[in-house]
Amino acid sequence: MFFHEVFSSVQGEGPYVGNRQVFIRFVGCNWQCAFCDTQTDIKPKYFLLEKTPGLRDFLKLENPVEPAMMGELIKDYYNLERHHSISLTGGEPLLHTEYIKQLVPHIQGTRRGIFLETNGTLPDKLASVINIIDIISMDIKLHSSTRENTPWERHKEFLKVASQKDVYVKLVVSSDTTFSELEQAIQIIKNIDQSIELVLQPVTPKGGILPPSNNYILSIQELALKTLKNVRIVPQTHLMMGHL
Ligand code: SF4
Repeated sequence: MFFHEVFSSVQGEGPYVGNRQVFIRFVGCNWQCAFCDTQTDIKPKYFLLEKTPGLRDFLKLENPVEPAMMGELIKDYYNLERHHSISLTGGEPLLHTEYIKQLVPHIQGTRRGIFLETNGTLPDKLASVINIIDIISMDIKLHSSTRENTPWERHKEFLKVASQKDVYVKLVVSSDTTFSELEQAIQIIKNIDQSIELVLQPVTPKGGILPPSNNYILSIQELALKTLKNVRIVPQTHLMMGHL
């Protein structure tokens, strides 16, 4: 299995913002968001492991890495008891479910377990690992921000599976996001459970995609609050703080 980086930092997005996590960044993605800031190389020769959290004193280690070896590296460098969870992130980690099944037994010992950050487009893959995942951060990929067609049916199926666990839905919103897109996302959540948290994340500007104005995102939140019980606006706080 190939990786881009492994580090210990704070969760910068959504309702778990500020919690301490070990991040394992998998390679590859099945989506192409216009605002994507992750590396596209799917077979990098090396991955980076930050030895001391926040110091950027990276070790350059060779890919690929066996699951047991990844578990050993993580336990050697980070005290898992002092971490909220381990974030499987990417790219799209669900492209690697067979590896995840083998890895999870080697990365036990955090306070809340395994945290999956996913684009929410691969429901069957999620179903195959749902029993070993504790918390799911699921995107609904709006066309207005990604410039890709939104896979509404897949998102619906995905949330059905994810609702077996602690899940929240994240929408990256831009100045082009429409009320009609929001209504569709809200309906998907409402039809499963109105109390599933919705996070509205203003897009970090890239390639001409701009964040919504303050007035617009507040009106989006009000629209969502007509139907859903928990709706927050949370930007990418790790970028503000200069964390990885
Ligand atoms: S789903 Fe995530 S990793 Fe994939 S293209 Fe979009 S932003 Fe990038």
